Amino acid sequence: MTHHLTTRLVHAGEHPRAGAPAGNAYTPTSMPIHASSTFFYNTAEELDAAFERGGDAMNYARHGNPTTNALEAVMVDIEGGRGAVATASGMSALYLALLAAGTPRGATEPHPRHILASSDLYGATTKILKTMFAAQGVGVTFCDMTRLDEVQSKIDALEPDVLLLEAISNPLLKVADISAISQMAHEVDARVVVDATMATPVLCQPLALGADISAHSATKYLAGHGDVIGGVLVAKGGLVADTAHAYAALIGPTLGPFEAKLITRGVKTLALRMERQCANALKIAQALNGHSAIKQVIYPGLPSHPQHALAARQFGGKSGGMISLELAAGTREAAIACMNKLKLALPATSLGDIYTLVTYPPISSHRELDAEQRRNVGIGDGLLRFSIGIEDADDILADIVQAL
Ligand SMILES: *Cc1c(COP(=O)(O)O)cnc(C)c1O
Repeated sequence: MTHHLTTRLVHAGEHPRAGAPAGNAYTPTSMPIHASSTFFYNTAEELDAAFERGGDAMNYARHGNPTTNALEAVMVDIEGGRGAVATASGMSALYLALLAAGTPRGATEPHPRHILASSDLYGATTKILKTMFAAQGVGVTFCDMTRLDEVQSKIDALEPDVLLLEAISNPLLKVADISAISQMAHEVDARVVVDATMATPVLCQPLALGADISAHSATKYLAGHGDVIGGVLVAKGGLVADTAHAYAALIGPTLGPFEAKLITRGVKTLALRMERQCANALKIAQALNGHSAIKQVIYPGLPSHPQHALAARQFGGKSGGMISLELAAGTREAAIACMNKLKLALPATSLGDIYTLVTYPPISSHRELDAEQRRNVGIGDGLLRFSIGIEDADDILADIVQAL
């Protein structure tokens, strides 16, 4: 019997009902924190067999540990796919995802040749592409992933082997059509990596829509409480999953058991939190729409959003917990003054926490771009980005209105 997503988020990965070790009088309902760097067996032969099996067999914790495996198991369960790798940060998950996505069929060495990436990516992701990949001779081209004609012509011209996009982009909250782009990419045998951090598995499951790897900063919604840094990727195919696993074991961006425990615990309430955060965000976006101090409320749930229909279809009627506000004044001074007047929303980078957070992209995620470069990607000087928390929507709204 297949349970619904909400149920699987609560149960998957932990307390196996079937397959608990024979002879155990009990099974813990909550996966313990296995703080052990290594694992021993009764005999050298059994240890030899564990090394031979590889994969999930326990031998040394850089290769995996039971607490981290429980997080990987719940992610595979809810996203589908052949394997997951939990890592020490979202960035290491994305780096590993890009390496593994470039694995040629029939080979086991990851080496992407040409990456076609969205021009609207998380700042550090753009930097990884420009420094770690482009600097080593990998072709890197950026394009607007919301313009399918542009994506198609870039694919035709460049024949990339990897595409990288965000399901919902930061901070402009553009929505990419994952199935259409995956279809185009597969025509030339390219693999698609989707950073689904902002959408979460509650809004969409990229693998089911055709993508090859779904990657998350688990720091954000998956953990949800602002108390841990972590990442996870889920791969659809066995070759990509095995490559990602092998490279993680080799380089060691492995997630530690304490962090894995916090994230697994967060995942259990993900559906509840998202439910509330999406409802709060919609209510606040609608209430602020038309406010005299605001030029534009950017939220996929508003009909004025350019990909409103796509978002409604792709995200099953939810629109996420992020809202960006373009202030009418359009200046850095106005944005900073508004941020300083907020009493409830915390002025801190990151997103997806239970607390409402506010950031000003020019001093955080887009700090390294000058004003003109920011305007070229559509980020005005008066843009504030809110990650709406689980507080009472009226309290959050009142806080924003008094600050405006
Ligand atoms: C935060 C974030 C990352 C990076 O994740 P870390 O856990 O900070 O390494 C990548 N992509 C998106 C969309 C993010 O929001």
